[in-house]
Amino acid sequence: MAVPQAGHPDLILLRRIGTVDPYSLDDYRAHAGYEALRRAFAIGPAGVIREVTDAGLVGRGGAAFPTGVKWQATASQPDHPHYLVCNADESEPGTFKDRVIMEGDPYALIETMTIAGYAVGAHRGYLYLRGEYPRALHRLTHAIEQARARGLLGDDVLGQGYAFDIEIRRGAGAYICGEETALFNSIEGYRGEPRSKPPFPVEEGLFGKPTAANNVETLVNVLPILTMGAQAYAAIGTAKSTGPKLFCVSGSVERPGIYELPFGATLGDLLTLAGKRDNLRAVLLGGAAGGFVRTDELDIPLTFEGTREAGTTLGSGVVLALDDTVPLPRILLRIAEFFRDESCGQCVPCRVGTVRQEEALHRIAERTGAAAADDIALLREVGRAMRDASICGLGQTAWNAVESAIDRLGAYE
Ligand code: NAD
Ligand code: SF4
Repeated sequence: MAVPQAGHPDLILLRRIGTVDPYSLDDYRAHAGYEALRRAFAIGPAGVIREVTDAGLVGRGGAAFPTGVKWQATASQPDHPHYLVCNADESEPGTFKDRVIMEGDPYALIETMTIAGYAVGAHRGYLYLRGEYPRALHRLTHAIEQARARGLLGDDVLGQGYAFDIEIRRGAGAYICGEETALFNSIEGYRGEPRSKPPFPVEEGLFGKPTAANNVETLVNVLPILTMGAQAYAAIGTAKSTGPKLFCVSGSVERPGIYELPFGATLGDLLTLAGKRDNLRAVLLGGAAGGFVRTDELDIPLTFEGTREAGTTLGSGVVLALDDTVPLPRILLRIAEFFRDESCGQCVPCRVGTVRQEEALHRIAERTGAAAADDIALLREVGRAMRDASICGLGQTAWNAVESAIDRLGAYE
């Protein structure tokens, strides 16, 4: 299949990156900026939600929940105020797509947050930004100030009688604060610990009020949906995974970086673009919470349904290539250390399970990678307990990568 490359006119999400001046609102407008917001005001909040629903947009943070359903559920809540939260706490190892958008096209995020706020009936938006992104902070802060000064944020956005403003909150380096309810706690001044769901944020979110929480990439997809129309957008990709997707390619490739492809390209297509090496051994899809695939599985279509059918996950779009010089047991141990370190400790399966998992992998590493059968049995038992009984996604996915390395790659055999 034909796949667009950097600078290709088919790029949709990345089309302004590197061409627009991130410090110039005028330049953003000259590059079709604020056309989508004008269309949003023309069709009204219900019209925006209908377009997003018809476009088939699903969340790009990793969980692929339908955005239109989330927005409709938030908009219809009788309790007020409603809030919009942009989750920009991008912390999944190997994920750097949101950073590229925020640094290269900050006004796009400000415009689309305004549209999302309008659709769900919010007058206040919080942008929760990963603390380690100082350049994004600088550019977004400047963009918000400029938008405010030019009537694109504030009491009367574009003279349409709609009030909306955005506040940036910085994370402090905790991976768990990317989990939406831990993020709400962090904004509210509490410890960043996840809450039990349900109730979902659409009913009880930030400050206990109806909240739509969306990832950066999810939100910027709303701009082309409104400018090109839901039908044209839905024609991109596959029937179940519509639109363009950003992939973060790193590791053993010649040209690591962000690639935009329509859903449906294969993993092999993507790796060819990024400069696949002959000694490729495996690919970690979906980050630390994702899973490994083998080199004879590169025809997996990069869609939510295709990766699911193949027994893996697309997650937030991480593609980490490992060649045969990489010591796999060391990588697995590093992933286990990461989860043990980042567990908030609130629930037992995750607090204890991540420690037991790391201990078992240490024992295996000390035996230079050879695993005793009882270590593997223990890893499986602990992994099952974490997956079944943890409160949030961190504990539920902390065993994914190790399990896939054992089952798909034959690690430790
Ligand atoms: P989830 O499936 O619990 O929820 C996904 C979204 O849908 C949430 O916003 C949730 O509130 C909403 N939702 C789910 N069911 C709902 C319902 N019945 N009604 C209303 N809303 C509903 O997933 P999650 O724990 O929020 O996220 C897990 C994902 O996060 C993983 O797939 C992982 O890949 C990803 N992740 C991404 C990063 C990153 O840096 N981008 C970091 C860590 C994890
Ligand atoms: Fe905290 Fe882990 Fe429980 Fe999530 S699963 S609430 S990170 S202890």
